[in-house]
Amino acid sequence: MRQEQKILLRKAIILILILLVTWLYNNKFESIYLTENDNIDLKQIEETKEVINSADNLKIYFLDVGEADSILIENNGEYMLIDAGNNEDGKNLVEFFKSLGVEKFKYVIGTHAHEDHIGGMDDIIENFSIEHFYMPNVIVNNKTFEEILISLDAKNIAFETPNIDSTFTMAESKFVILYIGNDKEDLNMDSIVLKLNYKNTSYLFTGDAPTDIEKEILNKDLKSDVLKIGHHGSRYSTSAQFLKAVHPKYAIISVGKDNEHYHPHKVILDKLIRIGTQVYRTDLEGTILLTSDGNNIYFETIKTNTNGGD
Ligand SMILES: [Zn+2]
Repeated sequence: MRQEQKILLRKAIILILILLVTWLYNNKFESIYLTENDNIDLKQIEETKEVINSADNLKIYFLDVGEADSILIENNGEYMLIDAGNNEDGKNLVEFFKSLGVEKFKYVIGTHAHEDHIGGMDDIIENFSIEHFYMPNVIVNNKTFEEILISLDAKNIAFETPNIDSTFTMAESKFVILYIGNDKEDLNMDSIVLKLNYKNTSYLFTGDAPTDIEKEILNKDLKSDVLKIGHHGSRYSTSAQFLKAVHPKYAIISVGKDNEHYHPHKVILDKLIRIGTQVYRTDLEGTILLTSDGNNIYFETIKTNTNGGD
């Protein structure tokens, strides 16, 4: 081979490598994660798309609201909201829910009275009809909480506190309240812990429940496919015992970029890696959308303008 040909060949190989790396990079971040089986074939991709596009299936949006929680659950055209982010997220959440066609929530749950969970709740109450509004029975003296009471009153919506072990349904989704507290000092200790069973799949929502709550509910049926990690990945939640009982295939951490609490804590991430749980984080991936047909669970990440703090 002549010298020029060799140089040309080398250039061609480098170009092909650059194109290949670019293609791999772009496709990685297009992000439909096929989670049940690593051997992807075209038929499976088609089936995945069918599940994701079907309006009957369960959809759960873990919304990007920074260092806060907001989770929208949709099943067969009915909606539940768990928490409403910080104060500055409220208007953005309203806009996003309207863009999805939400007019009414069957259930709205404030897990506990901290601002990063109920901050945007007054906007939600003012903009949608709500059949049931659930929160712990703890009256808090701050502006955020008072605004909720004023908004509920203006729309004649009752402030309800469900009992532990009470159950309710939404389309084909079955819910059970595993815990609700009434601690006036440590509001995290009030966190509503809610389990959702949808056909053969299960989901556990924990608010900011610390390990003391986890200990108290260890005797219950905690085993779940998906765990919303407690308190944004704080090391005062997600004890080894609790994690062993839940044994989630997937974990979601709702957490802000570069937050001052150093959430999620490395200890928690290490625990999840050790048991082989796949972790999704709102600080790294934005809003995480889960879809299930009741047997399989699929994840996508979507860009939403719901983080008002950004
Ligand atoms: Zn919180």
